Amino acid sequence: PIVKSSLALNLLRIDFIADYYKNIEKHPVQSKVEPGYLSARLPNTAPHSPESLDDILKDVTDCILPGLTHWQSPNFFGYFQANASTAGFLGEMLCSGFNVVGFNWLASPVATELESIVMDWMGKMLKLPSSFLFSGTGGGVLHGSTCESLVCTLAAARDKALEKLGGGFDNITKLVVYASDQTHFALQKSAKLIAALTRTSFSTEFSLSPDTVRAAIEDDIKSGHVPLYLCATVGTTGAGAVDPIEELGKIANEYKLWLHIDAAYAGSACICPEYRHYLNGVELADSISLNPHKWFLTNMDCGCLWVKHPRFLVDSLSTKSDIMRNRSPASNTSTNAAPVIDYKDWQIALSRRFKALKLWTVIRKHGYSGLMYHIRSDVSMAKRFEAMVAKDERFEIVVPRKFALVCFRLKPKRESEGSELNRKLVDALNGSGRAFLTQAMLGGVYVIRCSIGTTLTQDRHVDDLWKLIQEKADRLLSLQEP
Ligand code: PLP
Repeated sequence: PIVKSSLALNLLRIDFIADYYKNIEKHPVQSKVEPGYLSARLPNTAPHSPESLDDILKDVTDCILPGLTHWQSPNFFGYFQANASTAGFLGEMLCSGFNVVGFNWLASPVATELESIVMDWMGKMLKLPSSFLFSGTGGGVLHGSTCESLVCTLAAARDKALEKLGGGFDNITKLVVYASDQTHFALQKSAKLIAALTRTSFSTEFSLSPDTVRAAIEDDIKSGHVPLYLCATVGTTGAGAVDPIEELGKIANEYKLWLHIDAAYAGSACICPEYRHYLNGVELADSISLNPHKWFLTNMDCGCLWVKHPRFLVDSLSTKSDIMRNRSPASNTSTNAAPVIDYKDWQIALSRRFKALKLWTVIRKHGYSGLMYHIRSDVSMAKRFEAMVAKDERFEIVVPRKFALVCFRLKPKRESEGSELNRKLVDALNGSGRAFLTQAMLGGVYVIRCSIGTTLTQDRHVDDLWKLIQEKADRLLSLQEP
């Protein structure tokens, strides 16, 4: 019989996921399917009658798994990892299980209150100044991505600047955003969405040069533009480089630009005292973001944003609606009367998941010490890999390593052949199914990125990766013309 709905949780097949993890190394890390493979395997109309969970899971095995690139494989070294954990799973399951929509405080008080508490916990582990914490004068919010944090802070900066300029949106085409050519393209996309011009390409040695930023700002002011926003990165995507926050902060403050720090990847490492110096100068910034779903054991998706002046975000993003009026049944007080946060006014969407649960479970399960251990063990595996590469004269490390990303390449006989040679090496590695790595162009040089940090990766996987690289390199070099 067709039933309206069912919540038979005992049918949930957690063992299916457990088996997936048990066997994860048996899958080729990079999916081998061709585009469009799925339409040949699935019907082209929705089923008319209900189907059993067993039938659905059989199709997950037969049709879905082959199309996965296995991000949780210990042999995944591409992009920046998205590391999952048992505690992250628990938090994510609780979030799905409760399935509340915490757009304002009343819609689920604990969703708001846990988020504020966890954002302060995170901020304190990072030794952020109290100006970014609720216990000080600022505050934090969980977004789904860095891109969202960039759009929201850009909108806040834009509206503040336009108000100061007067004349409404007429001045919007004058606004300029500054970043290095190594800044993640999330910044370009976000600037496009809020309609500001972006100036890039000021990097030297892959980090943003304060002198060139200052010169660009001066030029723009002379030509009637309005410098709006400067994005500095701690741990760039291509090279893992760090922009000089303190010097950039002074420039931003002098010219009254909003300074945002994008620490999406490497921010997590800054909980360790030995990496915290990369955030020196953060007190000069207006906002800072990082993604716990990259390197903080928190399952997708989870992005932290802290702002010094929550009011600017709220001024820009708040909406008034009778339906969402925040009236507490107990006290009959409204948002205006009680100092509660309505996180819908700190983000793009109105609806929101109870993401704080998973960050809370992760922090509690591992503790500050366990989280530092997690970062340090990934860095130590990266050092191990780097040392093996450096010892082999056929290879070179292209960028000094700061975190757990190693950028290297096979030295070409002729420089003009460097990109092709290394592209072939990446293709051979990924085609083997035994590892997955990605590449970047750094200053016109094609480099192979080895990002170490999936939760299951151990020394033996790093050693196997290096053996595989050597094996594929031997073959490629033997085919090269003398
Ligand atoms: N910033 C940096 C430095 C990144 O490395 C990335 C992704 O790898 C992003 C931003 C984009 O993050 P998101 O996908 O969360 O928008």
